[in-house]
Amino acid sequence: MKKHWVIGLWVLTSLGCMGRATVPSSRLLPEGARLVDLTYSFDEKTLYWPTSPSSFELKQLSHGMTAAGFFYASNTLCSPEHGGTHLDAPIHFAEGKMTTEQLPLERLIAPAVVVDISADAAGNPDALLQPSHLVAFEKEHGRIEPGTIVLVRSGWGARWPDRKQYLGDDTPGDASKLHFPGISREAAEALVERRVAAVGIDTASIDHGPSKDFIAHQVLMKADIPAFENVAAMEQLPTRGALILALPMKIRGGSGGPLRIVAVLPPA
Ligand SMILES: [Zn+2]
Repeated sequence: MKKHWVIGLWVLTSLGCMGRATVPSSRLLPEGARLVDLTYSFDEKTLYWPTSPSSFELKQLSHGMTAAGFFYASNTLCSPEHGGTHLDAPIHFAEGKMTTEQLPLERLIAPAVVVDISADAAGNPDALLQPSHLVAFEKEHGRIEPGTIVLVRSGWGARWPDRKQYLGDDTPGDASKLHFPGISREAAEALVERRVAAVGIDTASIDHGPSKDFIAHQVLMKADIPAFENVAAMEQLPTRGALILALPMKIRGGSGGPLRIVAVLPPA
């Protein structure tokens, strides 16, 4: 424990001295471990639900030299909670359940498994994760332990940020003709049984495009299980072995929020 503290302090001191180009990040991680960013940048192309009244806005307040002779930049930002890479807190679909700031870190920082349904999704844009996928996964890769973050990979990330390709329809204000993969009610129930920490997906919603009752949201969130949506770069993750750090903006009373999610990959 003491040794880690010393290393941590050394890294912090070094960060201050060296600037960002030469950050010795590996000193914090096991030899050969790698960091992967699973987050889309927020900008004017960020996708929000078709019925969202607004999208991401960044307004410049200052950018330039001040009268005092130093450079100064600052902006204001405005964004719906649910769009881009983001968190769904349990209260999003379950009254009385946890809001964004109440989520314990154990649900946000945990080992991950990646369940790949991209073969099904390639032939069916409305493909659903089924309990059979979980059973097949466990047969090949071992049990999904309680406290695991389960990431569902459909391959939809390759379509981001093309609205029509990614959501299946680009009619403004209309969410009735969407097509993209998601999680079935039965698979959501199976994930609750396994007491997973959280669930993530590389599409706009854990419920597939045609869903009208958002049943996967309802089932998982009733069990206080949060979701991460529009997760990027899932193809870079191993089936097992990554550690996920999914840290949303800590909004008190939030039903979700913009999320910075990264993975620590074990040494190859
Ligand atoms: Zn959401």
